[in-house]
Amino acid sequence: MEYEAVIGLEVHLQVRTASKIFCSCANRFGEEPNTLVCPVCLGYPGVLPAVNKQAITKTIAAGMMCNCEIAGYSKFDRKNYFYPDMPKNYQISQYDLPLCQNGSVRIEGVGFSGDEIPRRHIGVRRIHLEEDVAKSIHVGSYSVIDFNRAGVPLMEIVSEPDMTSPDEAHAYLTELKQMMHYADISDCDMEKGQMRCDVNVSVRAVDNPGFGTKVEIKNLNSFRAVHRALSYEIERQKELLEESAAVEQETRRWNDEEGVTTLMRTKEEAHDYRYFPEPDLMPLQISADMREEIRRNLPESPASRRERFVQEYAITAYDAQVLTGEKALADFFEEAAAASSAPKRVANVIMTEFLGWLGDQGKTVRESPVGPEAIRELVSLVENETISMKIAKDVFSEMMETGKAPGDIVEEKGLQQVTDQSVIESYLQQVVQENPSVVDDYKSGKEKALKYLVGQVMKLSQGKANPQQVNDRLRDMLSQ
Ligand code: ADP
Ligand code: MG
Ligand code: ZN
Repeated sequence: MEYEAVIGLEVHLQVRTASKIFCSCANRFGEEPNTLVCPVCLGYPGVLPAVNKQAITKTIAAGMMCNCEIAGYSKFDRKNYFYPDMPKNYQISQYDLPLCQNGSVRIEGVGFSGDEIPRRHIGVRRIHLEEDVAKSIHVGSYSVIDFNRAGVPLMEIVSEPDMTSPDEAHAYLTELKQMMHYADISDCDMEKGQMRCDVNVSVRAVDNPGFGTKVEIKNLNSFRAVHRALSYEIERQKELLEESAAVEQETRRWNDEEGVTTLMRTKEEAHDYRYFPEPDLMPLQISADMREEIRRNLPESPASRRERFVQEYAITAYDAQVLTGEKALADFFEEAAAASSAPKRVANVIMTEFLGWLGDQGKTVRESPVGPEAIRELVSLVENETISMKIAKDVFSEMMETGKAPGDIVEEKGLQQVTDQSVIESYLQQVVQENPSVVDDYKSGKEKALKYLVGQVMKLSQGKANPQQVNDRLRDMLSQ
């Protein structure tokens, strides 16, 4: 029997705002525990929440990036449960009237395993806004609680069960993260808990029109963990089905060290949260003007930018995927390529030399010692044959070290390519005289010998002779 996986993701993203969602405490990561707190986010009785407009605006922006319908009318609800990370015994969340619904995210390109992912749209069922809860930290046999995180605005983005492979789930997460970065909605740093992901997965026979029983997996701390956990779980479920055993509906935990999922709780232990409307907060009216204003401030999406880069700069889809990975990089490339006569070459220099250099130095695009105009100038020096590609690599290193303009470096060091016929001729004569046996080899039919001689000329000219010219002239000379 042939089986197919069905995957749906629930992604929690902390919204980057100046203050928390219902109080004026700062929304910051990494401070001393319990220093960013007040009676509201500590859950004292008798206090009143007040909504942070920036959190609403950014959640709506997130919905727009995901092509969602934006609610004109929305409200907050209480989700009731008992747990030490939430001392007021309910979390303010959204139940039946979320801010955003019925959207989709486009995925495509090269997946995590290196395989091509054909273009697909993954449905986004809803995006709602809620307050993050305090963080429990387990120390030996007891636990401590840090309330700095309590009340940080948190979006939950729920996908439709539209993904069919771990690669697609990975691509969806990557796309979400990119969009949230582009629109400055969330930093999405999983290590800081700003992005958290629960995955739901089931397996069905390919010809089965319905869905199989789903399992939810928690405790996924990286995109890689999501991919591994899904691969493992799909196999586990397939094996059960092949033995004609039932997949139980349950929540499982990913164990990253051992690479397995283990049972956490079964369906019987599921909560009933007894949602009801939050009486301390007015419902939200989102006016058309407000939506207009938010839409006006949205950046171009990474997907549309990828497509445009392929068309406008004649680069490959893969190149476009790399170059739009980060907004700062896409901006950098576009500024360098826009006024260049060789945008493809600009793309190559940025992808290999520039990104390679940044990677080695552990620097971000914003920390680059040179701007996009320097890359454009370097490429144009190659284009107009002032320098060879080989010399360009040296100029590149020098310019990254010193921040000097490539033209100035070429000038100062006299790196201009030698195209003067008579100068090249004299190099050729010297090399031919010094290597009589190699010349004989070539004349007796050994093509390789020519390569060696060209290499010697390039060496003699300190890499400055025009290689094409050297090649052509040498061939002429030796065939006489
Ligand atoms: P629940 O009521 O258990 O929370 P939901 O219908 O709300 O389930 O869906 C939660 C998540 O699970 C969504 O992201 C959805 O896409 C996904 N999902 C639902 N059914 C399945 C299934 N059969 N297989 C895989 N994922 C599923
Ligand atoms: Mg659910
Ligand atoms: Zn507070």
